[in-house]
Amino acid sequence: MAKLPAQADVVIIGSGMSGASTAYYLAKRRPELSICILDARDISGGATGRNGGLVHPASLWEIPVLAQEFGLKYALQYYSLEHATRKAMRALDATLPGNRTLDLDVDKVMLFNDDDAMAKKLGLGWAPLGRVVYSIRSLLWPFGLQVWDKSHCNEQLRLREGHGVVGGVCIPQSTDTVNASEITDRIVQQAIQQGVQMHSYTRVEGVHRDEEAQLRVRTSRGDVQAGHVVYATNAWTPRVLPEMEGRIVPARNHVVCIAPMESLCRDGRRAGFGGLGNNYWVQRPDGRVICGGFRHLAEGGEVGIDDDASLSKEIMEDPEGPRVFLRKSFEMEEMEIEEEWSGIIANSCDGVPWCGPLSPARANEYLCAGFSGHGMTTALLCGQSIAGMICGDPAPSVMSPLSICYGAFSPQRRDVAF
Ligand SMILES: Cc1cc2nc3c(=O)[nH]c(=O)nc-3n(C[C@H](O)[C@H](O)[C@H](O)COP(=O)(O)OP(=O)(O)OC[C@H]3O[C@@H](n4cnc5c(N)ncnc54)[C@H](O)[C@@H]3O)c2cc1C
Repeated sequence: MAKLPAQADVVIIGSGMSGASTAYYLAKRRPELSICILDARDISGGATGRNGGLVHPASLWEIPVLAQEFGLKYALQYYSLEHATRKAMRALDATLPGNRTLDLDVDKVMLFNDDDAMAKKLGLGWAPLGRVVYSIRSLLWPFGLQVWDKSHCNEQLRLREGHGVVGGVCIPQSTDTVNASEITDRIVQQAIQQGVQMHSYTRVEGVHRDEEAQLRVRTSRGDVQAGHVVYATNAWTPRVLPEMEGRIVPARNHVVCIAPMESLCRDGRRAGFGGLGNNYWVQRPDGRVICGGFRHLAEGGEVGIDDDASLSKEIMEDPEGPRVFLRKSFEMEEMEIEEEWSGIIANSCDGVPWCGPLSPARANEYLCAGFSGHGMTTALLCGQSIAGMICGDPAPSVMSPLSICYGAFSPQRRDVAF
């Protein structure tokens, strides 16, 4: 194991998508800086290495809800951020050394076993939003939104006789899929080529200021004096920044990987899916299906749990649980589960990632976390934005989609950051 440096210009805590991205873009812009990534595990051992890999601008579905809460401009900015991140991820996949990792332009299908839930997702019949919803919903038609009734679902998908699906919605080609740990590894390896030091199995226990107000990062392997510190610590952020307790909240998801099988779509297409009770599943190019979610099956919804070393027996053995869930709806006689694991989502209290400097009293400390289950469409550009801030770039202008992470949209943000 390489020796930990006594000093670094920038210490990044976390080697998931957000930390890897910060290091990569920073080293690219300022090769003279000494940059060091510290991770308690190996590269992308957290949510990034355990996720479903849907690079899906999810806010496309959420525009009505976001607009109601924060206004239409905000809702469209969130969509722009997700869209721009998808583009940036494609560009990176094409330029980084190594095999390409993205599967482009797959369809996103949401399935429902309840008419009310479907109407709500579409913004239909949701009285409090009234006309706003109708006008916003109409924005989705140019994206090719298709509403499927039950028989169309049967025509399109290899659904089993007697399945409970009542309908679905599909946005064709709206999603890419990625093996997130592979692409993150490529990003980190490229950053290492650019001079970044990667120290795995190095747990940060706290960050303090010494008598000269210098930042000192205390780790399981000794102290590092730092010019700047970036917390890219996902759901574990409150453990190193206690003021984030209640603002970034962990929630554990359970996931299974099913051995390669025929396409779930009758015409052989691959697709990313969501629905049937907060679950998601995606078929990778090799035919493997990654299926996750299932929080709703446990009392308390797995909220507040940040332990991904164990599985909940209650969830895994539930008759609607991950081991049997897909077989109940789809024609899958042979369903061999290759692996099962859990992963922790970092839910942000207002649904928006935290990406920016901490309060002026904590100069040179930055937070890049709280991606709420949508990190594949936000974390890359958030990391790039943190790199820019360390280089002295001004805060993102109100026209930039990143300003939604930086701006104080909710009262919970104001006394902590930005
Ligand atoms: C099961 C699951 C499925 C998901 N599916 C999708 C999906 O399909 N699409 C999508 O967009 N998003 C999805 N997400 C969300 C997405 O994976 C995350 O938003 C994203 O990976 C967050 O990246 P990150 O870098 O912030 O966090 P992480 O990848 O979790 O990285 C944080 C790192 O910080 C390290 N760390 C934490 N504390 C310390 C410390 N004190 N000292 C040292 N190191 C520390 C951890 O070890 C970890 O490696 C999913 C998440 C899960 C859990």
